[in-house]
Amino acid sequence: MELTVLGCSGSYGAAEVGGACSGYLVREGDTTIWMDCGNGSFVNLQRHVDPADLTAVVITHEHPDHCVDVYGLHVLLRYGLERSGVPLYAPAGAEERLGALVQWGDTFAWHAIDDGARTTIGDMSLAFSRTDHPPPTYAVEVTGPDDHRLVYTSDTGPGWSVDAFAPGAELVLSESSYEHADRRSPIHLSGRQAGEAARAARAERLVLTHLWPRVDPNVVAEEGSDAFGAAVGVAAVDLTVTI
Ligand SMILES: [Zn+2]
Repeated sequence: MELTVLGCSGSYGAAEVGGACSGYLVREGDTTIWMDCGNGSFVNLQRHVDPADLTAVVITHEHPDHCVDVYGLHVLLRYGLERSGVPLYAPAGAEERLGALVQWGDTFAWHAIDDGARTTIGDMSLAFSRTDHPPPTYAVEVTGPDDHRLVYTSDTGPGWSVDAFAPGAELVLSESSYEHADRRSPIHLSGRQAGEAARAARAERLVLTHLWPRVDPNVVAEEGSDAFGAAVGVAAVDLTVTI
């Protein structure tokens, strides 16, 4: 599998060019999943893939920095490409709540995700786990045909951990919003907390994402690496990792 970062800024867009919010492409063979549709991520997506080739979309929760670019995709699919029935996995009720702004028509085939839910999308299988974050929020485990696994935490506080999934994932992509000494909210993790959780779950590799734009990424990476016990990566737009 291949993971490409389309946006990784925590909670609001960062000032730099391409400072988009959460969005990731997960690809395996002919299967392409857009996982989280944060503001700005659709712009970056189109540099990597033709939106007509998307197999499915996953929205982990209804915070704007994880979902609002689904509106741009909807406009293109409905009025440009005249597509219908594109699979979209999201928390129950998302179709109605996000639909307050648009008429979805039959553009998407909506599938509700829930704690413990599993599904297969092309060559990949997905499992979901409810995290420690106020709106219903689901971490995603993606397993490829070679059984290599990506675990994406979405947003979470320390009351949930990646060990909700089986240990030993090839890659954990963990939110890491804050420096540990300056945790602004209990609904997110620090670099240290992300590193500790990934180490406990015996992750092979750890990439930190969703850093609050005002934190020093070097500090977060250093404390994350210390806690993880090995050097961690920090997400950046266009970063591509083979899993
Ligand atoms: Zn959130």
